[in-house]
Amino acid sequence: MEITSAKYLVSNTDVKVCPPGDKPEYAFIGRSNVGKSSLINMLTGNSKLAKTSGTPGKTQLINHFIVNNNFYIVDLPGYGYAKISQTQREKWEKMIAAYLKERVNLVTVFVLIDSRLEPQKIDLAFLRKLGDWGVPFNVVFTKADKSTQREAHKNAKSFIEAMKQEWEFIPRSFMTSAVKYLGKKEILGYINELNGEWVKEAPAMLEKTEEKENK
Ligand code: GDP
Repeated sequence: MEITSAKYLVSNTDVKVCPPGDKPEYAFIGRSNVGKSSLINMLTGNSKLAKTSGTPGKTQLINHFIVNNNFYIVDLPGYGYAKISQTQREKWEKMIAAYLKERVNLVTVFVLIDSRLEPQKIDLAFLRKLGDWGVPFNVVFTKADKSTQREAHKNAKSFIEAMKQEWEFIPRSFMTSAVKYLGKKEILGYINELNGEWVKEAPAMLEKTEEKENK
């Protein structure tokens, strides 16, 4: 899929005021500093779209971008930043949980995992939460260029092995490098595939949501 346009739309703290759910949506999340902004910029071919910042944990908002006038990309605030207060952490959890559980047009959440690290409890715990909430996800390993290919793949394999302890079905995962454009074609191809499915399934799904809301 070719990206012809990618624009910032709006930032919110409340899922209820997010843009209308009339287009398929893909959210990106991970520990702060995992490379989320760099990945979004790499995918959209716009180096300034999501802010790559040296101050992790700063953006505590649900950020919407519209791509090709056809689907939304959402940049969610990262987790696992040590220097925030308990109150802020609880606020984050509440906002993220509401967004992930209530956003009707959310197709999948791309959960970013640093390919330089061995499986981290905090990431596995986050996937567990997605499971509890019934939110579909895919795993994206980041910063593949920062270690040897062998090391990155070894860590990715360990992470998937750790997932297998808890999950029966392991969703598709991607190895990426924002510097080397690794994984760009694969993720965009996957989104394109899912967009096609969404168009077929959306009317029935939206009708079901309306019924639920009217009850
Ligand atoms: P975020 O906090 O998750 O949005 O992370 P950023 O995208 O701001 O990246 C954090 C740091 O990692 C920045 O210094 C980036 O330049 C660097 N970074 C992100 N992705 C990659 C990558 O694929 N390769 C390399 N070498 N550095 C990366």
